[in-house]
Amino acid sequence: KPALTQIGMQMSNLTGVRAIMKDIVETLQAGNGQEFINLSAGNPLILPEVEQLWRDCTQELLDGSEYGDVVCRYGSSQGYGSLISAIATDFNRRYNLNLTSRNILITPGSQSLYFYAANAFGGYTASGNLKRIVLPLSPDYTGYGGVSLVPESLIAYKPTLDIDAASHQFKYRPDFSQLEITEDTGCVIFSRPCNPTGNVMTDDEVRKIAALAAPYNVPVLIDSAYGPPFPALNFTELTPVFGDNILHCMSLSKAGLPGERIGVAIGDEQIIQVLESFQTNMCIHPSRYGQAIASRAINSGKLADISTAVIRPFYKDKFAVLESTLSQAMSKDLPWLLHRGEGAIFAWLWLKDLPITDWEFYQQLKQVGVIVVPGSTFFPGLQEEWTHKHQCLRISLTASDDEIVTGMQRLAKLTEQIYQLT
Ligand code: PLP
Repeated sequence: KPALTQIGMQMSNLTGVRAIMKDIVETLQAGNGQEFINLSAGNPLILPEVEQLWRDCTQELLDGSEYGDVVCRYGSSQGYGSLISAIATDFNRRYNLNLTSRNILITPGSQSLYFYAANAFGGYTASGNLKRIVLPLSPDYTGYGGVSLVPESLIAYKPTLDIDAASHQFKYRPDFSQLEITEDTGCVIFSRPCNPTGNVMTDDEVRKIAALAAPYNVPVLIDSAYGPPFPALNFTELTPVFGDNILHCMSLSKAGLPGERIGVAIGDEQIIQVLESFQTNMCIHPSRYGQAIASRAINSGKLADISTAVIRPFYKDKFAVLESTLSQAMSKDLPWLLHRGEGAIFAWLWLKDLPITDWEFYQQLKQVGVIVVPGSTFFPGLQEEWTHKHQCLRISLTASDDEIVTGMQRLAKLTEQIYQLT
């Protein structure tokens, strides 16, 4: 084995959800004749209308004269010109903006964008000060946990909880009495809608965070991997918020193109330039085939249409199935609370005062053939102990209705047993 540097060790660690995914893959492979209902996946389902859209766009690309230029040549680090102008035109019209091509960067998936930003703005400055990467509302996307080369720069804040015990619902909100954004902040990142919770921070909350960061010129990255206009996986009203220090970040992964790796950053020219240089060093530029078909799907308006007509209702209906099954199957006396389903492709269940840990619950649920993800992996950057961290589960909506119903019935039964035993 080669000797590893500190960064080499850090980056080769299986962090957060990747460790659990390994356990899940091994469970599924071992099988032992047991059939599992797998509600752990973060991979979106392949919806036929969405796949057809990408096939049609590919066909158009193959039939046209552009093909050679797209795949047989290097391009600019900023991204493929056709996609950049498609996004600028679409966003200017849709949101009444004045974007030029200089406000847009295309990256190989949005994960890489968070990696560039976390290391360009977070970590040690030339004079040795530690700039923090602030996650203003924990829990949040587990993938933020590994993006920094200086792990101690990541810091997350506990939320406040809006609880409606009678209807078994709750919602996280940023805790502005605790949140600190100062001259020591390098950047702020959060997902909206949120993976894992399905939370959508309100416009006011977003503006407040951006306003706290503005005096220090701190970039605020709003991860809209599930947001409108594509994949439009918001089930409640969501207005994208733009501003001088806001970097609006998107991904085409949940709009049917995860394999092509397309991320988009929209924001101030100076921020875009920093990230573009990072990208040049890292990978020269993202693959252009996916960008070329994406520009067609955006220009024709079909991607936005399919998002609202197909992708959004598909997952919204799944959430409704999950919520109504839990309401029927779970005892009213148990303190179970489902996070309001405001978007994304997951449900987030809080079992208040759970007598065992989320990890133990996950193990026991596997015994009855259902796989979910223990919630404690979704608190990257939150160092302090908090019992709530060990009382939550992420349940994927990427399964059939029957699987969701059966899975939730088994989960309800197990929950009942566990609370009764103590
Ligand atoms: N952000 C969030 C909130 C996600 O859930 C994901 C993937 O699941 C990503 C970013 C990364 O997506 P990609 O790199 O495919 O754009």
